Amino acid sequence: MPLVADGFLYPTNNCLTDLEPWQILLYAIGFTLMTTAAYAWLFDSISTPWARMKAFTFASMRYVPYLWSKIEAKLAKTIDEVKQHIAPYVPGQKYVTKLPNDGLAPDAVLDEISKMEKLAETDWKGGRVSGTVYHGGDELTHLITRVFERCAWSNPLHPDVFPHVRKMEAEIVAMCVDLYHGGSNGCGAVTSGGTESILLACLSYRQSGYARGIKYPEIVAPVSVHAAFEKAAAYFRMKLVHVPVVETTRKCNVAAMAKAINSNTVLLVASAPHFPHGVIDPVEEIAALARRRGIGCHVDCCLGGFLLPFMDEAGYSLAPFDFRVSGVTSISADTHKYGFAPKGTSVIMYRSQEQLHEQFFVSPDWQGGIYATPTLAGSRAGAVVACCWATMRYMGRKGYVDATRRIVGAAKAIERALESVDEIFLYGKVEVSVIALGSKVFDIYRLGSMLSARGWNLNSLQFPPSIHLCCTHLHTADGVVERFVDDVKECVAEIIKFPKQRTVGMAAIYGLSQSIPDRSLVTEIAYGFLDGCLLARPKRRGLTRMVLT
Ligand SMILES: *Cc1c(COP(=O)(O)O)cnc(C)c1O
Repeated sequence: MPLVADGFLYPTNNCLTDLEPWQILLYAIGFTLMTTAAYAWLFDSISTPWARMKAFTFASMRYVPYLWSKIEAKLAKTIDEVKQHIAPYVPGQKYVTKLPNDGLAPDAVLDEISKMEKLAETDWKGGRVSGTVYHGGDELTHLITRVFERCAWSNPLHPDVFPHVRKMEAEIVAMCVDLYHGGSNGCGAVTSGGTESILLACLSYRQSGYARGIKYPEIVAPVSVHAAFEKAAAYFRMKLVHVPVVETTRKCNVAAMAKAINSNTVLLVASAPHFPHGVIDPVEEIAALARRRGIGCHVDCCLGGFLLPFMDEAGYSLAPFDFRVSGVTSISADTHKYGFAPKGTSVIMYRSQEQLHEQFFVSPDWQGGIYATPTLAGSRAGAVVACCWATMRYMGRKGYVDATRRIVGAAKAIERALESVDEIFLYGKVEVSVIALGSKVFDIYRLGSMLSARGWNLNSLQFPPSIHLCCTHLHTADGVVERFVDDVKECVAEIIKFPKQRTVGMAAIYGLSQSIPDRSLVTEIAYGFLDGCLLARPKRRGLTRMVLT
């Protein structure tokens, strides 16, 4: 066949001369379909080909009989242990799975609750638990209880019936927008918690991305951001691109973030501070990047929401992090953390009304009437909104500044005291309320486990292995900081007698799970945990043994 002919298309034309016209047509269609399928496989923006190949390889391993049966047995045992840990059978407890025929008298109901409360072993009131309980004092607890009673039946879905709750909700948002210097265009909504605030922010950016013709909107965020962003990406079919943090400071690597931005990116995220190691990302740099690229910048202040705005006044200087930073387009702040409101409220704030509208849902044609909601839920607990409003009014600026001074002070005192312990190190600097510990000498989860034996309840973190204490109001009580420092020092002294000793029990699961390359196995263990949470009828261990052997 002549490769060089008079015209470039000659060889192609020549090799097609043997084909019938219908064949040429069929081949052309087949080729086009194959090319589009290959393109979708390679560039489908939600997951990378690499991730899919990895998942496929691990899934195939389940068909290797000998290998899989061994893994499966171990997996089942681990899941069982996790369930047993979370929902143990306790003799003397009543396990209810049926509605009582005759209702109980109020006192009998309270009696049952008293009995169930005996299940709790952790002394959170004594400040032994990391984060978790953001207590605002006994007087506030009493106030909240009375407010709840008065608003127990209210539902913000019906503002005409509960105008006072509507007013309270709007005022919570206004107070927060003012705290974060959102100006006259600043706006927002009350949600059920930090996760919902983050979900809604991501939804809003996705919708505006769609409007600009972006089919697969992407979020770029440091690996340290809260898992709620991953949840948002999963719920709303977005892609979350993680960028690394700077090893020493644990802050977002802004250069890596700049590189990760592409034409699908709709949102950059900064945390102030982030949950794992409690440091504040360089908000100004990230916001400047977002502004230059014409995309959104969300600052996740869920954790620090009611500490950061008061840090300056409390005597801790801070780089700007709120709407005063040009380029910051939305902020989430949790009233139910350091805002001291009871669980069930958070605030999502936007720089402009258009952004807020993107999270709204309206069904203009529903048979039940024109249906419009500002957040994910339909009916909501007006009582929690009222409690949040009451808490903010009760605390006042001075109350929050004072709480901030004490809480940040406690965290920094722990940092100073632990700097002298050579066998452990702190991840990043203590900037707000979190003290994160690691060790180059021993398995840090062993320290967590030994502290648990002494009544403490710290958070276990992974990648890298670390544990943290998130200071709350409860840790500012007399002697708590000193007792924590003493316990850490004593435990470390104990551990380094045998630094290489193996970690056992629940604490070992974290270390083990990080070494499992197939993350779907870890997911299955987590399913076991969730199943355990929902288990009304725990297994009686002794009995099953007897039956089996
Ligand atoms: C707690 C937290 C959230 C999510 O809050 P929830 O109220 O648990 O849904 C988000 N971001 C950070 C940094 C947090 O600490």
